[in-house]
Amino acid sequence: MTVYGGIEAGGTKFVCAVGEGPQAIRAETEFRTTTPEETIARAVQFFERRPEQIAALGIASFGPVDPDPSSCTYGTITTTPKPGWQNVDLRGKVAAALGVPVAFDTDVNGAALGEHRWGAAQGLDTFVYLTVGTGIGGGAMVEGQLVHGLVHPEMGHFRIPHDLERDPFGGACPFHGDCLEGLAAGPAIEARWGVRGEHLPDDHPAWPLEAHYLALGLMAIVCILSPERIIMGGGIMKRSFLFPMIRSELQELLAGYVQARAFTEVIEETIVPPGLGSRAGMLGAIALAAREHEERCVWG
Ligand code: ZN
Repeated sequence: MTVYGGIEAGGTKFVCAVGEGPQAIRAETEFRTTTPEETIARAVQFFERRPEQIAALGIASFGPVDPDPSSCTYGTITTTPKPGWQNVDLRGKVAAALGVPVAFDTDVNGAALGEHRWGAAQGLDTFVYLTVGTGIGGGAMVEGQLVHGLVHPEMGHFRIPHDLERDPFGGACPFHGDCLEGLAAGPAIEARWGVRGEHLPDDHPAWPLEAHYLALGLMAIVCILSPERIIMGGGIMKRSFLFPMIRSELQELLAGYVQARAFTEVIEETIVPPGLGSRAGMLGAIALAAREHEERCVWG
């Protein structure tokens, strides 16, 4: 069996794993994201100490990043607000230390690829993976290709209607204030209610508002990309009662305009949690590695 390495590089923690896929993870470790030097050294050490020879490694990274393989800054974390991590050549440092092919993409594109290979998007060719946690980000596959465009999509940073009477909170995005992420990611919930989301009870008014904002976000994504499915992961989506609230609000917003069974009769199969659960990010990194290896085998 071909063994791969994966790094889910998050702004809060790194997860490193070695394995073939969801049923065969041979080793896994996670640690806090500190300075780039210390964090990258710990990741490299994990792989160096494993007995397996990995065929390729995938990095699914927090961003913004440069995911363009033809760019001289491919694999670099670019304008992140995270202190110390601006312009860090994450891919280059790992590749130089380990001497294996290293594939690199955004965390959400990685998760989308993992879900396509093993999870809730198997057999689909146009879908979105949206994470709702510390930030909001989306990875998209359109007609079988992961979307990068000029840089990569920023599905958390478009504006949605903001009713200041219902919600006077000005928004938490340092760049845009009340964009989708600024209104609906974890830091917005904490700043608005004075309590971290995980400590709010299920019947708190925070949740209908959260479902409302996420449904507005999905409305835009549905209208622009026409996805066959939207997979919603991340810490906030662990509150599974949000799913029916989001689905029914999205149906109201769409008002029957998108005439597809996916959004009318079977919306519970269309707006779904990740098939790979909380392992979507880590397995996404492994999926990036597997794809890199397979492409090299095909093209020599
Ligand atoms: Zn923003």
